[in-house]
Amino acid sequence: MAALLRRVAGTATLRSGCLRKLHSVYQTAELPDTHQLLRDTCRAFAEKELAPIAAQLDREHKFPAEQVKKMGELGLLAIDVPEKYGGTGLDYLAYVIAIEEISRGCASSGVILSVNNSLYLGPILKFGSEEQKQKWITPFTNGTKIGCFALSEPGNGSDAGAASTTARLDGDHWILNGTKAWITNSWDACAAIVFATTDKSLKHKGISAFLVPMPTPGLSLGKKEDKLGIRASSTANLIFDDCRIPKENILGNPGLGFKIAMQTLDSGRLGVASQALGISQAALDCAVDYAQKRMAFGSPIIQLQAIQFKLADMDLALESARLLTWQGAMLKDNGKPYTKEAAMAKLAASEAATSISHQAIQILGGMGYVTDMPAERHYRDARITEIYEGTSEIQRLVIANQLLKRYKG
Ligand SMILES: Cc1cc2nc3c(=O)[nH]c(=O)nc-3n(C[C@H](O)[C@H](O)[C@H](O)COP(=O)(O)OP(=O)(O)OC[C@H]3O[C@@H](n4cnc5c(N)ncnc54)[C@H](O)[C@@H]3O)c2cc1C
Repeated sequence: MAALLRRVAGTATLRSGCLRKLHSVYQTAELPDTHQLLRDTCRAFAEKELAPIAAQLDREHKFPAEQVKKMGELGLLAIDVPEKYGGTGLDYLAYVIAIEEISRGCASSGVILSVNNSLYLGPILKFGSEEQKQKWITPFTNGTKIGCFALSEPGNGSDAGAASTTARLDGDHWILNGTKAWITNSWDACAAIVFATTDKSLKHKGISAFLVPMPTPGLSLGKKEDKLGIRASSTANLIFDDCRIPKENILGNPGLGFKIAMQTLDSGRLGVASQALGISQAALDCAVDYAQKRMAFGSPIIQLQAIQFKLADMDLALESARLLTWQGAMLKDNGKPYTKEAAMAKLAASEAATSISHQAIQILGGMGYVTDMPAERHYRDARITEIYEGTSEIQRLVIANQLLKRYKG
């Protein structure tokens, strides 16, 4: 399938045509052929391979290794990575569509994929040397190895510039000390991008990014966090205790780390928005299906206007957030600024997901509250999308900053 997607990608006008297609996408919700094919492929995969086991993965906190391998074979672990590095060579619109469909089947799988695609491979593709790309990208494209992204710390999440993990040069090696917190994929990853300060006096301008193999001496993992949702993805601390890595493992120049992190989060937020869209769609599907079958006062509850109004509001929130997400992806594909649009997409999609999954439970009544039905899992999975890669409050700050810039002479 990866080969098929690559062949179609080669014949379709992807990057150049995307923004021009924005109008028609808004009008008709029609996607270019490549993206349609990708969406159908991911949807079929999610329905057949992920949705049937998502509840079990969640219950057992089980990393879906076999499914990740299959998604790697489909080309979903490195969607916008050029073919010469082993990627699928599609664009970011393709990426957000794929993440939505996979998350619709299993939200944990969606986050596993999005961390590898946008948080791990993305910055190496943008800031890495040719040698680093060969070494740190190619083996991570087919699902046999995945990566992680270590920015947050126990003492600072939103305030990422206050990193206290340090990196000190000692001959031909950097020596890392400190703790990174909440790292998705950590227990299953073979490499991490780690942000550490090389010059504390420069504050955020003294942060650098490093490529760290996993496992490696001096790096240990904390316990797996017992989470509310996305329970099939691992989350843990990375603890560095005089961890030595080769000098050439710095990504970009010393001091570039904060910029790398912020730019990575811009694109990562589109990935989180897509996860939220997938969760929302699954919750809406579940609510409509149940409302069609559930009888009350002699009729299916879907005939009640109170239920229809809820469904209308859910669909409105979902479609609006999807368009914002596609807009952000298209701007990125066309090399335009998209910081504000990515923050808006993430904010709208994550708040839609918590609201839609909340209303889905309401429509299911008591059946929404038990694990026999997926609604309660969607509700739990949705919540994280308002927290990681910048909380909703931080998205509002980003949007306001960008907005106010427009009004400054
Ligand atoms: C399941 C999970 C997976 C994660 N995966 C990763 C990962 O892979 N890599 C990684 O680096 N991190 C990861 N994180 C960390 C995540 O990005 C942070 O939790 C998040 O950025 C918030 O940081 P914090 O938890 O320290 O909250 P804090 O920064 O302490 O914020 C607490 C509250 O204060 C608010 N707040 C803080 N500053 C402001 C402000 N200036 N204005 C208004 N309100 C503010 C916040 O919005 C929030 O409501 C993950 C977290 C979780 C829970």
